[in-house]
Amino acid sequence: MDLYKLSAYELRNLFLDKKVKATEITEYFLKRIEKNNKKLGAFLTVLSERAMQKAKELDQKNAENKPMGRLAGVPIAIKDNTHIEKEITTCASQFLTNYKAPFSATAVKLLEEQDAILVGKTNLDEFAMGSSNENSSFYPSYNPWNLDCTPGGSSGGSASAVASRISLIATGSDTGGSIRQPSAFCGVVGFKPTYGRVSRYGLVAFGSSLDQIGPIATNVKDIGLTMEVLGKHCPHDAMSLEFPAESYIENLREDLSEITVGVPWHFLESLNKEAHDNFVQSIETMKSLGANIIDVNLDILKSSIAVYYILATAEASTNLARFDGIRYGVRSKDAKNLEEVYDLSRDQGFGYEVKKRILLGTYVLSSGFQEAFYKKAQKVRTLVIQSFDAAFSNCDCICMPTAPITSFKLGTFQDPIGMYLQDIFTISANLAGLPAISVPSGFDKDNKPFGLQFLGPQLHDAPVVSYAHAYEQATKFSSKIPPLFDKEF
Ligand code: GLN
Repeated sequence: MDLYKLSAYELRNLFLDKKVKATEITEYFLKRIEKNNKKLGAFLTVLSERAMQKAKELDQKNAENKPMGRLAGVPIAIKDNTHIEKEITTCASQFLTNYKAPFSATAVKLLEEQDAILVGKTNLDEFAMGSSNENSSFYPSYNPWNLDCTPGGSSGGSASAVASRISLIATGSDTGGSIRQPSAFCGVVGFKPTYGRVSRYGLVAFGSSLDQIGPIATNVKDIGLTMEVLGKHCPHDAMSLEFPAESYIENLREDLSEITVGVPWHFLESLNKEAHDNFVQSIETMKSLGANIIDVNLDILKSSIAVYYILATAEASTNLARFDGIRYGVRSKDAKNLEEVYDLSRDQGFGYEVKKRILLGTYVLSSGFQEAFYKKAQKVRTLVIQSFDAAFSNCDCICMPTAPITSFKLGTFQDPIGMYLQDIFTISANLAGLPAISVPSGFDKDNKPFGLQFLGPQLHDAPVVSYAHAYEQATKFSSKIPPLFDKEF
């Protein structure tokens, strides 16, 4: 049976109906990982033993007709900046190669409670800083549609794993687009929930006021299924929202009638022709589904990259202060005194991009520059939030492309600013804490995927997912499997 062609939802039902065993599913996907991971660089760690152990327990439970969890038998990969108890969390950094997590992240705990099978930890840009996975200190990850190209970042390993169907679902973390941009580049669906909707407990912090865990899947319904498990209040995360879990699956829409979609046309003027045409095509599809399209003014988003790279680096510089070679991380063997333990461990442990961000963040927080940079950026962040509020008073959701270009060849961006500019369409959802989903919207002339993004007001997570579902059902781009991986093993 071609298990890799199924959705997670279908696979779960097959298991619950006893048509396939959890051990068979797990062996099947572990074999797919074994055959393909070298080409993809998607996993940093494969949890074969843990996965088989869980699968055996599930088969036993199913044979005894005991109640099963909502993700029973579904293989799920976890981004390697999120803790799984007793396993190594590297954050793709040399610094943490020895760090064994003492507890599981709430998101991981919820997935395991609902009987998901954790198959491995996925590759990322070091500490989730990057847009191409090239900042992983181990090896890059590659795009299943074209192995010379990036899967995007920072959750590139997760998107690569899902697109190639070596895992059907993966988690990502999104501080400025790291779930949505790789999902767009790899032709899969990625969702960043409302800030505070999914617990950050057990996620290694990058920019605490921006970070959000969310799912990557091959289709929108599986995003809903995973969010019904993940979207819960957690007492260990001070910013976790105390709202009841939402029902996604029963609210999935097939059309967009009576939905008003806002498009910031002016802000999109700089798109290249191919990306613009793809976007206009998507808008036509939405019209045919009954949507009312209006123009909204979000010109303030032009400042969002500048704001983000001040605030995110400021937060990162304080969050990463804890890595000192004493409490966390590999201690430098060359250190001869306390000062050197800090200095040399950090120097040898952190990669170039991480160091650059620590320096930037420390600079914008330093006493002479706080007013000029950090505080000003906070004020512009408030303006971004206000602009979204104004836009949402006239529409139900906002649509934009997920990224200005499709996936590019590894090594394309030597200039960091060029790379940072790629985040122009994703960052604002983090600045304003909004739910945003990327869904495949077609292919460029080289057969590389485009992504379309839906953003909604805070806590409108289920409606945003439902609009993406209507669009997906009308276009079916997310059912496409990269030709190189469209075979069992
Ligand atoms: N690409 C952005 C950055 O480099 C976003 C990263 C993220 O969302 N983790 O910071």
